[in-house]
Amino acid sequence: MSKRVPLVIGNWKTNKKVAEVYDFLQEIQGKLPDPKKVEVGIAAQDIYLHEMVKRSKELKIPVGVFAENVHWADEGSYTGETSPAALADIDVSGSIVGHYERRKMFKETNGSVGLKVTATLRNGLVPIVAIAEDATHYNPDDEDMAPLTEIAVGLAGVDKTKAEKIVIAYEPAWAIGASEAPSAEIIEHAAKVIRKSLAILFTQEVADKIRIQYGGSATPENSKEILELEDIDGLLIGRASLEPAAFLSMVNDA
Ligand code: PGA
Repeated sequence: MSKRVPLVIGNWKTNKKVAEVYDFLQEIQGKLPDPKKVEVGIAAQDIYLHEMVKRSKELKIPVGVFAENVHWADEGSYTGETSPAALADIDVSGSIVGHYERRKMFKETNGSVGLKVTATLRNGLVPIVAIAEDATHYNPDDEDMAPLTEIAVGLAGVDKTKAEKIVIAYEPAWAIGASEAPSAEIIEHAAKVIRKSLAILFTQEVADKIRIQYGGSATPENSKEILELEDIDGLLIGRASLEPAAFLSMVNDA
């Protein structure tokens, strides 16, 4: 069982119409756990974020509202982008950064991920940094192990004093949108390698505070086993977060 407060986030991607967004919020009202024990978030399309923040406050739903992507500049001429300062201004909690789909379809690099992580932290937002690389070939017992490239390059510019706010989402590319998640052994091994990489980059003390989520075909059937792993501190859920009942069942497993 994790030593950190678990964080379970639904990643709605490019799904839901506005009426479905409101229905979902109403469905989960009064059903979420105490945020001191389990933190819950929903990442949605930018167009819905402001209203989601307002409604969840009105309905007293302890849910963090997250963007699925963010730009690195606080303002300027970047047509079509959403700035971290604008997200902070409407009380959004944070943003996913470097999701595999963005890396693959929109050519995001570890370099741009790094700029975005720094920008979110500068604006008081929580970056959910998605790591898609196959971490399992690293040997966590190797003392000379190099940190994973996605962590070494993506997080190199992060101020150590702010690093504990980062959340890492381990989402193996081959498990996203797939039919099943990797075994619990693979997930725990990857999470340990990630934590070791974080300790190399920051310090062990900071690495022990950073939450590592698992994502990729997480379902109500496998969530309990995954959430029981020592180094896993929550889930980033795609398809199974679209239905309130499935999402709530997974939140309650944390
Ligand atoms: P999935 O997506 O749960 O539908 O596999 C996870 C993700 O891409 O964040």
